[in-house]
Amino acid sequence: MNPIPMVDLGVQYEHLKSELDAAISGVMAGTRYILGPEVQALENELAGYLGVSHAIGCASGTDALHLALRAAGIGPGDEVITTPFTFIATAEAIRYCGAEPVFVDIDPRSFNIDPERVEAAVNERTRAILPVHLFGQPADMTALMALADRHGLKVIEDCAQSFGAEIEGRQTGSIGLAGAFSFFPSKNLGGCGDGGLIATSDDALAEEIRMLRNHGRRVDGYEHEVIGYNSRLDELQAAILRVKLGYIDDFNRERRRVAAGYRRCLETADFELPYEDHIGRHVYHQFTLLVPDGLREHLQASLRENDIASAVYYPIPLHRQPAFAQCRQAGDLGNSEAVAERCLSVPIFPEMTEEQIERVSDGLKSVKCEV
Ligand SMILES: *Cc1c(COP(=O)(O)O)cnc(C)c1O
Repeated sequence: MNPIPMVDLGVQYEHLKSELDAAISGVMAGTRYILGPEVQALENELAGYLGVSHAIGCASGTDALHLALRAAGIGPGDEVITTPFTFIATAEAIRYCGAEPVFVDIDPRSFNIDPERVEAAVNERTRAILPVHLFGQPADMTALMALADRHGLKVIEDCAQSFGAEIEGRQTGSIGLAGAFSFFPSKNLGGCGDGGLIATSDDALAEEIRMLRNHGRRVDGYEHEVIGYNSRLDELQAAILRVKLGYIDDFNRERRRVAAGYRRCLETADFELPYEDHIGRHVYHQFTLLVPDGLREHLQASLRENDIASAVYYPIPLHRQPAFAQCRQAGDLGNSEAVAERCLSVPIFPEMTEEQIERVSDGLKSVKCEV
C-alpha cells in the first residue's frame, strides 16, 4: 500500500503542473525577480479576496507577524497577550519587537485563546492581543474585538493556518487591525518556498509596513526614513501563489470534505473530534483529535506500521519552552498542557481520497480495540 503523508504536495503539483510551470517560466523570462508585477497583482487579488484595503507581501509568515506588530507600535516595555498553544513564531514575533508575550490559556474545544481569560490578563502594560486561528479554526473574534475595544488594545490576527476561514461571513485577517498570513508550502495557500502577507484596512499601518519590508524606504530610491528590513516576497512565489489562489476555495472545500469523511468514519471511536460551531467556517489546516491519555504513542506507532503519517502539533506549549521560560503567564494554563499531551493530527490535504480517509480511520480504530 502507498504511504499516506500528512500533506501530499506532489499530487497537487501534478494537477497544476502546466499552469505552474507556465507561471514560473513567465517570471524567468520577464527578469523582474523582486517586487515586480506578479507581487503587485497578487497583492491586489488578495486584498479583494480577503476584503481589506491593503495586502502586503513579505518574506514569511513570521515576518508578517513581526512587521505588523512593529508597525502597530509594539515595542520594549509592552505586553502582548497570546496563546501558548501555537507554533513558536507567534511569540517570537512579539520578542523581535522587544515586547513580552503573556500567555493565556485556550478553550479546550476550539484550541484557541479563551476571551474570558484574556480579559483577566489585561494590565496597564498590555498593548495588543495576538490570537491564532489554530488549525484553520477561527478564534472568537467577536468577543476578542469587543474586549480590545473596551481596553484600547490592538488586535493582530495570526492567520498562518487559516487562509479562507470565515467568521460570520468575514475572512480571518480582515477583522483585527491586521492579519498575518504564511505561504509556507504546507499551508492552505502555500508557495514553493517561504512567503507571507499582511492584510489591513488601515492606510497608515499599510504604508509603514510597506516601508519596513523594504529597508525603510517609501519608494525605490535611496532615502530611508526608518531602519527597516529586507522582507520582500519574490516574483516566483507570487506567480505560483496567483495560480493556487484560483483554486483556494476548491482546496478548502476539499479539506472540509476530508474532515467530514473522518467524522463519519470515526463517529463511534473513542476520540474527541475537532469542534465546529456555526459562526465560523473552519478550513482544516489540520484535523486534530484528542486521544485518550497514554494512547498517543501506540496510535502513532500503529499508523506508522501501516505507512500512515501522523504528527503532534504541538507537544510543548510555549510557556514550557526554554526560550520563553521568563514569560508572564496569566492564570492557569492547564487546558493548553492537557491538549498538548493528548492532541494528534492525522493526514489532511485537498487531494486525499475516500480510500485514504478510510485507511487512516481504520488504523486509528484498530488500536483502540487492542489496548
Ligand atoms: C507557519 C506558522 C507561522 C510562521 O509562518 P512562516 O511562514 O513559516 O514563517 C506563524 N504562526 C503559525 C500559527 C504558523 O502555523
